[in-house]
Amino acid sequence: MFDLVIENGRVVDGTGNPWYLGDVVVSDGRVVTIGRVEVEPKRVIDANGLAVAPGFIDSHSHSDLMIIAEPEARQKTMQGVTTEVVGQDGLGEAPIRDDLVDEWRRYLSGLNGDPDIDWGWRSFGEYLDNIEAAGPSTNIASLVGHGNLRLLAMGMEDRRPSKAELEEMKRLLSTSLDEGAFGLSTGLIYPPCVFADATELSDLCRVVSSAGGVFVVHMRNEGGKLLESIEEVRGVGRDSKAPVHISHFKANGERFGGR
Ligand SMILES: [Zn+2]
Repeated sequence: MFDLVIENGRVVDGTGNPWYLGDVVVSDGRVVTIGRVEVEPKRVIDANGLAVAPGFIDSHSHSDLMIIAEPEARQKTMQGVTTEVVGQDGLGEAPIRDDLVDEWRRYLSGLNGDPDIDWGWRSFGEYLDNIEAAGPSTNIASLVGHGNLRLLAMGMEDRRPSKAELEEMKRLLSTSLDEGAFGLSTGLIYPPCVFADATELSDLCRVVSSAGGVFVVHMRNEGGKLLESIEEVRGVGRDSKAPVHISHFKANGERFGGR
């Protein structure tokens, strides 16, 4: 006895194959077969005229706070998104400190909104616990923001970190990765991330790479200095052995379209 058959849909299986007509048979929460089947399931969904596909991954999401405020996340699930990667652009919600939280919350509101929720967390793990407790519809993977590490270690200073400040950033990063961060994000147009050079990024990314994480970057420039900016993050990837993901990978501005 199967739990569910989604029948008559156009199956887009995610392997790159063209769509085909088929029935998707589900048992115990798993797809057990796809094809023309003669079974009596407990439940049938008629997907005539619709596509049946694996859930989409929104690899650059700003639902960091909204997923706690509105965990049903209909704006995502109704588009077929089942997994979101939050903590983007170097600017995340954790780790954060008592003396910094109010100002940081205001600063992030332009990117992530400012819903009426209690910022009760301080560590990265506590932030994830808050998401878990909200019971979100989507799967959430969160990156730890480079901006958070820099803010906690040295404020919004436009300079290189001292040795002790860099060590503090690495310690906070390592702890956050241990507590469940999928990797490190940075946004090299946003303070305080913009104040970092490639050496600082490589030093941090060595921690990311040894923890099996990814490095996700909003590059320093997407226009006239696009190619130099790609070289910068390629260099960080080569030096640190961390896998690099470039967010919104594009040439910004008509003049630079050919690049
Ligand atoms: Zn973004």
